[in-house]
Amino acid sequence: MRYWFDTEFMEDGHTIELLSIGMVAEDGREFYAENSQADLSHANEWVQENVLPHLWSRQEDKGVANRWSRDGGVGSFNTRRNIAFELRRFVNEGEGKPEFWAYYGDYDWVVLCQLYGRMIDLPAGWPMFAMDVKQLAVSRGDPKLPEQTSTEHHALADARWTRDAWAHLVMLGRETQDQRLRAFASLVIDYSNDAWAIEQAKAVLGA
Ligand SMILES: [Mg+2]
Repeated sequence: MRYWFDTEFMEDGHTIELLSIGMVAEDGREFYAENSQADLSHANEWVQENVLPHLWSRQEDKGVANRWSRDGGVGSFNTRRNIAFELRRFVNEGEGKPEFWAYYGDYDWVVLCQLYGRMIDLPAGWPMFAMDVKQLAVSRGDPKLPEQTSTEHHALADARWTRDAWAHLVMLGRETQDQRLRAFASLVIDYSNDAWAIEQAKAVLGA
């Protein structure tokens, strides 16, 4: 099963300190947690301005967070150890081997892995790498991705957007495939002597 995720973190060139992690599964389940052990005095100005204001643990009105968990969202404001435990359960509930996707995800992947310790401490059966939607985009000519209309730099909102951007690229790929197939169908109709193939080609073109 595919999982799209995002994290918010503080980093100083040596350490990456988790603030929050959001993940959405292919079957629609959602996970979101904030690290109760994060030392917010490490937040640089950018994080203070762009990330901290969106953290659910810092909202006076808990309405959004409460509605989300009532609707089945899983996660909490918790220690790294407990987040690691809850995240493993969330992922392992899904069918089959997990496949992780992030966007510009190198730091996100390391900070996720470090919830479990070293690379080899990752839960059994998990891949030791994450796929990157940015790489997928570049491999497809770097097309424009959908605008994010939700709160940017909130890990759950960003994880949902990462899923949407992935789906957008998959649909673009399908469109290109369709175009190729249609071009090829014309060729078959013009040149092939294979009656069956010509019939198929006509069906593709809707002729
Ligand atoms: Mg983010």
